[in-house]
Amino acid sequence: MALTGVEIFKMLPKTNCKKCGQPTCLAFAMKLAQRQVSLDQCPDVSEEAKQKLGEASAPPIRPTVLGSGELAVKMGEETVLFRHEKKFVNPCAIAVKISDTASEADASKVIDDVLSSEIDRVGQKLRINALFLSNDSGDGAKLEALAKLASTKAPAVAAIISTTSPDAADAALKHYSGKNAVLYGANKDNLEAMAGKAKAHKATLGIAATGLDELCDLTEKAKGFGVADMVIDSGARRAGEILRDNTYIRRSAVKKNFKPLGYPVITFAGRDDSMLESLIAVLGIAKYASIVVLNSAERWKNLALFSLRQNIYTDPQVPMQVQQNIYKIGEPGPKSPFLITTNFSLTYFIVSGEVENSKVPCRLAVLDSEGLSVLTAWAAGKFTASKIAQFIKESGIETELETKELIIPGYVAILSGSIEDKLEGWKITVGPREANGLPAFLKARA
Ligand code: SF4
Repeated sequence: MALTGVEIFKMLPKTNCKKCGQPTCLAFAMKLAQRQVSLDQCPDVSEEAKQKLGEASAPPIRPTVLGSGELAVKMGEETVLFRHEKKFVNPCAIAVKISDTASEADASKVIDDVLSSEIDRVGQKLRINALFLSNDSGDGAKLEALAKLASTKAPAVAAIISTTSPDAADAALKHYSGKNAVLYGANKDNLEAMAGKAKAHKATLGIAATGLDELCDLTEKAKGFGVADMVIDSGARRAGEILRDNTYIRRSAVKKNFKPLGYPVITFAGRDDSMLESLIAVLGIAKYASIVVLNSAERWKNLALFSLRQNIYTDPQVPMQVQQNIYKIGEPGPKSPFLITTNFSLTYFIVSGEVENSKVPCRLAVLDSEGLSVLTAWAAGKFTASKIAQFIKESGIETELETKELIIPGYVAILSGSIEDKLEGWKITVGPREANGLPAFLKARA
């Protein structure tokens, strides 16, 4: 049973010291009851209280790692149903299926697609996260051959081994020892043996149920066999069923702290029709899947799904930001234009995109304005003449320029005089108000 805020409060130090970032112990207790903070944020809580509050403070969805090394992804740990309550924390992993009935050439092609799937968007690297190796042939030797091929060609990419045969699982998992693979396919007929194989290879057990009741039963039994890390599949395949079951699972876990469903969810979006597959994947990403399995990795589909995933898993209360720096666009020389803008990601990418469109090599200074756009930053005192002058002076950029000229956004034309006062020897030019005016502006100067 989840504890109420008042019950939690009784076990806290009650000093109101604020070290946890909350104004009082009661405020902290209320947030802990809602799982909006974690118990370790209070450094003074007693060991006894920690034990008693363990259940209340444990994430309602068990944290689990898929893969190893730099490309590993975390799953679970979500605490809310809606992203306006608190951000969603661990972006859904995207996996692509390879059947062990495919030829080696076809399997290699999919692995290559996954390896080359990485894109850079708003400064973040986005990619397909895992290979779903499926024992469609029912032949353990074929699954092992596929696991060997995948682990050799793409050793850093996580694997989900899909089979209902414990022996086939054993052979395939040997190629992923110590790499936090998922062994998917544990059901009511093979649960104990599959649990044994998952434990032996330190893999996460993927439970394949045929309904929510059976799913609860299987996770409890697997726990009884000593399995801690699981991913769960209710058996839903149609869009409506996926929405219904994934919502039910998330709601039960975060609102009722219902432990049998407190695990990351795997959703199967695979369809022959790529457009339909994308739509089902969108549903899985938006509604609570921790892994979405696709049939193929086309670039257009990746781009749409990566962007959606990135947007859903950013904190709506924290603007996305680009690092303060002077970025080169093209290969600028000493006479190339030098512009400045703020570090709100959207502003940066729109401005840099328009500069690229102009085909005029430029330098673009990006000032840390705490993620605010130009006008908002100016109004908030984050994009001022003093800050701009200080940034330009400290950057040392003037040694690279023949003419000390800085182009500022048209919306802050009012700053031109005061920047000139603070930046001795510099000419300040007012650029266009909107970024889409940059290509014509830059071409006219070239
Ligand atoms: Fe209370 Fe602990 Fe927060 Fe201090 S850090 S106010 S003792 S909950």
